Formats: sequence, C-alpha cells, structure tokens
Amino acid sequence: METINSYYKSSANFSIDASALASDQAADVCIIGGGFTGVNTALELAERGIDVVLLEAHDIGWGGSGRNGGQMICGIGHDPELIRKQLSDSEFAELYGMGLEAVQVLTGRIKKYDIQCGFNWGYCTVAYDQKRLSALKELQGFLAKQNYPFELSLLEGSDLERVVRSERYVGGLYDKGSGYLHPLNLVLGEARAAQELGVRIYQNSPVEKVEKGSKVVVHTAGGKVIANKLVYACNAYLDDLDVNLKKHFVTTNAFSIASAPLSDEQIQDFMPARAAICDNRPVLDYYRLSEDNRLLFGGATHFVEYLPSDLEKHIRKNLRKVFPRLADIKVDYAWSGRMALGANLFPQVGKMSGHTNVYFAQAYAGFGVGPSHLVAKSLAKEISGETGHFDVLSKIRHPKIFASTTLNPLWVTAGKCWHQLEAKLH
Ligand SMILES: Cc1cc2nc3c(=O)[nH]c(=O)nc-3n(C[C@H](O)[C@H](O)[C@H](O)COP(=O)(O)OP(=O)(O)OC[C@H]3O[C@@H](n4cnc5c(N)ncnc54)[C@H](O)[C@@H]3O)c2cc1C
Repeated sequence: METINSYYKSSANFSIDASALASDQAADVCIIGGGFTGVNTALELAERGIDVVLLEAHDIGWGGSGRNGGQMICGIGHDPELIRKQLSDSEFAELYGMGLEAVQVLTGRIKKYDIQCGFNWGYCTVAYDQKRLSALKELQGFLAKQNYPFELSLLEGSDLERVVRSERYVGGLYDKGSGYLHPLNLVLGEARAAQELGVRIYQNSPVEKVEKGSKVVVHTAGGKVIANKLVYACNAYLDDLDVNLKKHFVTTNAFSIASAPLSDEQIQDFMPARAAICDNRPVLDYYRLSEDNRLLFGGATHFVEYLPSDLEKHIRKNLRKVFPRLADIKVDYAWSGRMALGANLFPQVGKMSGHTNVYFAQAYAGFGVGPSHLVAKSLAKEISGETGHFDVLSKIRHPKIFASTTLNPLWVTAGKCWHQLEAKLH
C-alpha cells in the first residue's frame, strides 16, 4: 500500500474505528469509496433513515479527500461556460446557486456535527500579470451582477500586501465567501457522524467485483454486500473497477509540502492575513498556513499521470519563485494525490446506463472540496426520492476521453475556481 507522508495524516484528530468486511451483509444502499463523496452521501442518507454500508479500500480519507490543499472555494465546475450549451437558461442559473449551496452544505455540516477541522474564511486569487488581473476584474464584475452575497475586493499595491507579499503578483481578488480547512479532519468528522447515525463502514475492504441487477452484489475478499442500490464514489482511484466510468476521465497528480512551523514574524512578513492563496495560471500554486503555522504549499504539472520523483525539490523550485526568502525553509512533509479530470472539467454525476439503481459521482478536476458536498447531497436526495439538483447534474454529458482534442482542457489543474471565466474571457 502507498505510504503517504502527509501533514494531515500526522495531525489527524482521530482515526475511524472500522474493521474490514468479514461477513456477508445486506443494506439498502452500498457505497464504494470513503472520501468526501462517499462519506457525505452515506451521512445524508443516514440522516434520512436509510440503511447504508460503505466500503473503503484503505482507510477513510485515504484518497484525495485526505490529501488536498484544503481550499474550500465557492462554486462548482471550473468553467461552466464549457457546458453552457447543454443547459437551459434556468438550469444554467441553477448551477450558480449550487456553487453557493455547496459552501452552505459544507459549513452547515461542520457546525451541526461540531467537526474540528480548522475552518477559516478568506481566499485570494492572485494574478501574475495585468492580463490575468483584468480577468479577475471581469470576474468581480460578473459576480457582482449575479448578486454574489460575499464581499469581494480587488487588491493591488499595499492592499494586496496586507494579504500576501510577493513581487510576483500584480494584484488579487479577495473573496470572503471561500476559505480553507484541514480536509482529513473534516472527512473523519463526517465519517464518525455517519457511523453514529448507523452507517456501517468497513475499511481495508477493496471492492473486487460488482454484479449489477435488481439487487447489486458487491464483492470484497472478506465478504459481499447485497444492496438495492449502489453508489460508485471512487473518483481518481477507480482503477479498473468499472471500465465504462473510467473512460470519461484521465488522472493527473497534484502534490504538496508542509514546512516546519514558522515564526509569527515570518508569517507577518509574507502572509499576514492568513488567507488561502491560489494564482490564476492554468497550472498554479496553491498555498495556505496550517493551524500550527506551517506553510502548506502545493502545485501540479501539465502532464497527465506525471509524478516528479523528488516532490520536495519540485515544489521548492516553485516556492522559491514566489517567496525567494523562504527558499531554504525546512520541509517536514511532502505528499501527492491523484485527481480525475473529464473533458469539460465539470463533476460527473449520474445513473449508470442500463442500471437505474447504480449511481456514480467522480471527476471533480481538482476542485472538489465544496462541490463533493453538494453532489453527495444531490445523490442522497435522488436516492431517497426527494427533488434536488440531480436532474441538472446528471443531464450534463461527459465525452469519453480518447482523442487529443478532448484532452485540451486538461491543461487546467488543481484548485481553480469555478468562476474563473478567464479561459473564456481571453
Ligand atoms: C493533492 C490534491 C490537492 C487538491 N486540492 C484541492 C483543493 O485545494 N480544493 C479543492 O476543492 N479540491 C482539491 N482537490 C480535489 C479534491 O481533493 C477531490 O475532488 C475530492 O477529495 C474528491 O473526493 P472523492 O470522495 O470523490 O474522492 P476521494 O477522496 O479520492 O475518495 C475515493 C475513495 O475511493 C476509494 N476506492 C477506490 N476504489 C475502491 C474500491 N475498489 N473499493 C473500495 N474503495 C475504493 C479510495 O481508496 C478513496 O479513498 C485536490 C486533490 C488532490 C489530489
């Protein structure tokens, strides 16, 4: 099993007490995958009194949910314009509402279950040049027209320096409606809440085979689960479990380092507002401070499936460009994780063709912290017969990825904000 040298793992509040599946079980719904999508779908279903078994190949949060940058960015989908033509005006407007609702669902969950995950508001998209700053200005104007309910400030010069100090940036857009958190502690808190509501979680239980039919039979080495309904929530770690789902995305890697704790003076010198920061280049840097004053600095590459052999060296190079004075900072952790990217960079949600009792949600394209919460709620509503966003989400078509043309948008990677209409504006 892959060893993850992540800061999150070392600072997890607790681990989930759940053994491997060792006997056959029956359930109304079986969920495969213990990340944000699977755990929150389970939690939402349990809140509605539905009986759920969740199977996770490793332990809860092992995938992207326990490794990501923790940037909770308002919105859904990097660039909804890419799917604009597939929706009516009212459906397209619904997407905007979903982006706001994603934040409400996530923050509401933290509050309801008192999850200690270091959540804070404050996120700034920074621009490397005037062209990219203009894109942020246009974005601000666009959001103002949509009556975006949070404060958005365009920052330049000394105003920007009150948030982040790097000679690289010419300006930034500060958003009080987005923020950051410790993702592993969030998903662990959610999983514990689900268990308390009766969800049966089995860890170290990789699903080996699924038989679909009026009942689904989900096989692991230790036993099987027979259920009325099934949800695939495996995202970039699906591998060969379902070849049809896999045809709709490619995987790429993102990575991060965590420095040793910094002094208050150091922090005041380069990130005085302690906001989460992301730049708006296609392959970007994303970073923030941890609760114990470490700099968590992440990045990705242009290349599908490429993983640098020396993560620390690779990221240090990027860090040096932004903050030369931190070039020799001590690094305590370096880790990577897989992301799933579809051709339109929009989450893939739906029912499997020919199987009305089999659902899936995947391919958040490196922008899944908030969206996965909204998607999980939509899935749970659909499964329990309530009206929600499932119809609109599942209406969006996702081409199979096989040609270079469908790969073009994949140059966009982790952490980009949904409302970065930049790609369309320039
Ligand atoms: C390094 C990195 C940085 C990121 N930064 C951000 C960010 O700052 N902001 C943001 O919004 N998004 C970010 N993302 C994206 C975000 O983490 C994901 O979109 C989100 O976590 C997806 O959640 P998920 O539950 O769908 O998938 P995952 O969390 O990956 O969970 C899938 C789970 O399925 C399990 N599984 C797979 N196959 C099987 C099987 N056969 N049997 C049983 N279990 C199985 C896996 O073990 C895994 O635990 C980042 C991603 C990475 C990798």
